[in-house]
This record gives sequence, structure tokens and C-alpha cells, in this order.
Amino acid sequence: MSPPEPVDFFDIRALLDDDERLIRDTVARFVDREVAPLMAECFATERFPSELVARLAELGLFGATLRGYGCAGLSHTAYGLICEELERGDSSIRSCVSVQSSLVMGCIFACGSEEQRSRWLPELARGTKLGCFALTESHGGSDPGRMRTHARRHGGDWVIDGAKLWITNGALEDVAIVWAVTDDGIKAFLVEKGTSGFRSHVIKNKLSLRASSTAELELADVHVPDSARLPDANGLKAALRCLDEARFGIAWGACGAARDCIDTVLSYTQSRELFGRPLSHTQLIQTRLANDVRQLTAAQLLAWRLAKLKEAGAATTAHISLAKWNNVRAALDVARDCRDMLGAAGVTLDHSPMRHMLNLETVITYEGTESIHELIVGRELTGQGAF
Ligand SMILES: Cc1cc2nc3c(=O)[nH]c(=O)nc-3n(C[C@H](O)[C@H](O)[C@H](O)COP(=O)(O)OP(=O)(O)OC[C@H]3O[C@@H](n4cnc5c(N)ncnc54)[C@H](O)[C@@H]3O)c2cc1C
Repeated sequence: MSPPEPVDFFDIRALLDDDERLIRDTVARFVDREVAPLMAECFATERFPSELVARLAELGLFGATLRGYGCAGLSHTAYGLICEELERGDSSIRSCVSVQSSLVMGCIFACGSEEQRSRWLPELARGTKLGCFALTESHGGSDPGRMRTHARRHGGDWVIDGAKLWITNGALEDVAIVWAVTDDGIKAFLVEKGTSGFRSHVIKNKLSLRASSTAELELADVHVPDSARLPDANGLKAALRCLDEARFGIAWGACGAARDCIDTVLSYTQSRELFGRPLSHTQLIQTRLANDVRQLTAAQLLAWRLAKLKEAGAATTAHISLAKWNNVRAALDVARDCRDMLGAAGVTLDHSPMRHMLNLETVITYEGTESIHELIVGRELTGQGAF
């Protein structure tokens, strides 16, 4: 029997069906050949590689779990595998796909009218249009219920005023899902690029997710027709349901970043000679690698089990929170440890762990910070919300 692969120590591959294995291998090849070679340059120059959008669409990676409208109708496990492989390349690419798939297409699919689905989903699946999900505002992303952006009725139209901050794909988007408070509670609107009064400003000098486009959105007297309102996006709960979908993908994606870090260090420590022997032959490096693989393996098994619960319709918000929290924390700790095992070489873009480590600082913050996910799990355990 061949020894277990270090980065698939408990043979998760054996738990996949043939289609899922094929999807994983196809996306892995795409990442190795077309994504990974670009990422150091994109990170250094703060450039989103928009040349990959058409390829992501061609591979069916946008809205992959949705049925109809040109989407692939894949299983949640398959979507998780896609996220894991993409984040092995860079969290920015997985973020773009998560936003487009879970937050934009998923939201239109779940909360939109048939007319909105038919109009937007095929183009978003083909990547000819990109979308963003604008919930966070400057005064506190953890408490979106206090949003100040508001929409008021004006005849048959709505008029939206406000601002959104930290919006992924926000400078590339053709359509933004804008959450706003109205006299009748929180609602979501499809706001198209070019609408008068709607502007986006790129946020520069991020030290994390540098290959992702992040923007501030400004909405000043923006008029949209009632047909731009998502009819079933009512209340904050609708937004949080979309976030659950995206957090599921993040729980898987984080495993990809950790895998890439461990792969990098395994090969580096085998060729690096210190004190007359390869670094990988020392006890301390071996225990550190073993500890990193332990954390990765636990995260992989958690992600796989979460997908099975989701496929059975039994995954709760608390399950998803625990997995997002655990897996991103594990990946961040692994990335930091792997950076250290590379010594000085680890602080350059020649090796991926520090890039992953910096990206994961965003991943642990967005879609609910670590503390917020701990509080969601705490609420589930005690029956008492503490935030
Ligand atoms: C690169 C990037 C991309 C992003 N993309 C998007 C996007 O596409 N769409 C979108 O809507 N948003 C996006 N976000 C925003 C993100 O979701 C928020 O940053 C996040 O929710 C945290 O909000 P905040 O930054 O305002 O921090 P705050 O909410 O101000 O939190 C600050 C600190 O307080 C802690 N905290 C908060 N409440 C409590 C409490 N009750 N008890 C204890 N501690 C608490 C938090 O854990 C955190 O450590 C993005 C952010 C980044 C950095």
C-alpha cells in the first residue's frame, strides 16, 4: 500500500464520487497551469487577473450548484472542492467566485423574480457580467442591521442614498446587490453600473487580498424601478442566508490555502541542508509539519462532513459558523508556521505561504469575524444571543 499523501492524510479523495474527483482534478490542473503562475505578480501589483474570468466561466465555476439558467447543477461537495482548489491558487480567486456564485447568483436565484433570474443568471454564469454583494458599511460590518443606506418610495420607483465599504468585485461589477433599509424593513436592490448617482472607488494599499478588487460604493439619489427590488429579499435574515452559502465555500477554501503552504514547505525542507542534513530530517521540523497536517486534516474532514449535512438539508448556521471559524483559524496558523519554516526566503513572494497568510487575515475577518462565529456557536449552545 502506498503511503498516504501528506496533504490528503485521511484519503478524503476516496469519499468522493467519480464526478467529484473529475471536477477536483480539472480545477486543480487549471489552478496549477493558469492561476498559480500569475498570483505573485498580481499580489505585488494589486491587480485582479480579469483574464481568468472567461476561463472560470468556461469551466462552469460560476453558480456551480444552481440548476438551470446555464449553471452546472453540481453537488455542494463539488462546490467545496472547487473552492478548495481555487484558494490553493489564491484567496482572491476563490473570493471572486464565492461572491459571484453564492452572494450574487445565489441571492438572485433564491430571492429574485423569474424575470430577474432569466435576465441575470445566464450572463453571470457565462462571466460576461460580474456582480457584487454590498452589505457592509463603515460604521460596523459585524452589526449590519444598523445599516444607514436607505431606500424610499418615489412613485413607482425607489430612491437609494448611502454608502457601502469593503465590497469585493465592487470596482469590476456590472450589477450590485445593494442592501438598504426602507420604511418596511431591510430590502435588496439590483443596481446596475452606470446608473446615475452610483459610483465605485477602488480601495488601494490593502496588505491582504491584493489580487482582489475591493471598493467603496457611493449611492447618491440613485433611482431604480420597483422591478430592481428582489421580491423575496426581506429582512436581514435574507442577507444572512446568502452569507451562509458563501461561508460554506470559505470553510473549504481555507483548506486549499493550508495545503499549498504545507506542500511548499515539504519540498523546501527536503532540499534545504543545514547542519549537514536536510532540514526535513530534524525532529522539530517533523513535529511542526505533523502538527500542520493534523490541523489541515481536521479542517478537511469538517468541511466534508459539513457538505454532507448540507446535501441532506441539515446544515445549520451554527454548523457553518463553526466550520468557517475552525478552518480559517487552522489555515492562518498553518500559513504562519510554514512561513517561518522557510526562514528569510519565506518573506518574499517567491514562496506562497506569506501571501496566503496575509490573504487569510481578510478571510478570517470577512463574512463574519472569528469572534462573531464564536458568538453564533455560543448562542446555539446556550440559547442566549450575546451580541
Ligand atoms: C478585503 C475585504 C473584502 C470584503 N468584501 C465584502 C463584500 O464583498 N461585501 C460586504 O458586504 N462586506 C465585505 N467585507 C466586509 C467584512 O464583511 C467586514 O469587514 C466584517 O464583517 C467585519 O466588519 P468591520 O470590518 O466593520 O469590523 P467591526 O464590525 O467593527 O469589528 C471590529 C472588531 O470587533 C469585534 N466584535 C464585533 N462585535 C463584537 C461583539 N459583540 N463582541 C465581541 N467582539 C466583537 C470583531 O470580531 C472585530 O474583531 C470585506 C472586507 C474585507 C477586508
